Amino acid sequence: ESLTVGVITLFPEMFTAISDSGITRRALQQGIFKLQWWNPRDYTEDKHRTVDDRPYGGGPGMVMKVEPLRKALQAAKQAMGDDSKVIYLSPQGRQLDQQGVVELAANNKLIFIAGRYEGIDERLIEAEIDEEWSIGDYVLSGGELAAMVMIDAVVRQLPGALGHEQSAKEDSFAEGLLDCPHYTRPEVLAGKTVPEVLLSGDHSKIRRWRLKQALGRTWQRRPELLEQRPLSQEEQDLLAS
Ligand code: SAM
Repeated sequence: ESLTVGVITLFPEMFTAISDSGITRRALQQGIFKLQWWNPRDYTEDKHRTVDDRPYGGGPGMVMKVEPLRKALQAAKQAMGDDSKVIYLSPQGRQLDQQGVVELAANNKLIFIAGRYEGIDERLIEAEIDEEWSIGDYVLSGGELAAMVMIDAVVRQLPGALGHEQSAKEDSFAEGLLDCPHYTRPEVLAGKTVPEVLLSGDHSKIRRWRLKQALGRTWQRRPELLEQRPLSQEEQDLLAS
């Protein structure tokens, strides 16, 4: 089943970064997912088309104006259906990781609200938002890049999105490990040769070597990933060897 993504954004042109390039562009062309946007600016009624408003209590910074945002979201829900999951991108949300990406990919209608300024009115979050997600502990100027990060990662999980069906499963984190190193031609580069096993043609040996590399890297770079992850007998043997 395909995924429909709606975005509420003041900067829809930013989304050409995913609609016009690479895997996400091909997935759009193949109908594996759909991408639509609604701009709160199109739902303003004043002549300046105002999309921000002053914060109660004063202080620096503005807040997204409520009515244009609400109307844009209403339009999105009307077009996509009330059963769409509405997500607000926010540094205060659940932090995205590959597990979260897999969970999100199980949905077929997602509406992302990209905040700007100091964000959106708290009562809108309470009334309209199903889930708040963050892409990390730092502050961006707007939710658009965060939404694109999530959309790109989710689309990679959709059946048929990657040319090679296996590759999503072999990426870092899919099996709770970092990926193994990759090599391509030439065989000697800056005096360094490709690990010999990769030239051997022995697929089961290659698979074990890659698994061992992935385990070793994870242990060196991200040991905490291994802490909660049970190891198979083969993995234990490889780590010991
Ligand atoms: N005042 C807000 C705070 O400190 O929680 C930050 C507002 S930020 C300047 C503007 C918008 O960028 C937010 O409404 C949110 O949509 C988006 N944003 C910023 N950092 C983000 C992050 N780490 N993850 C997801 N969205 C983020």
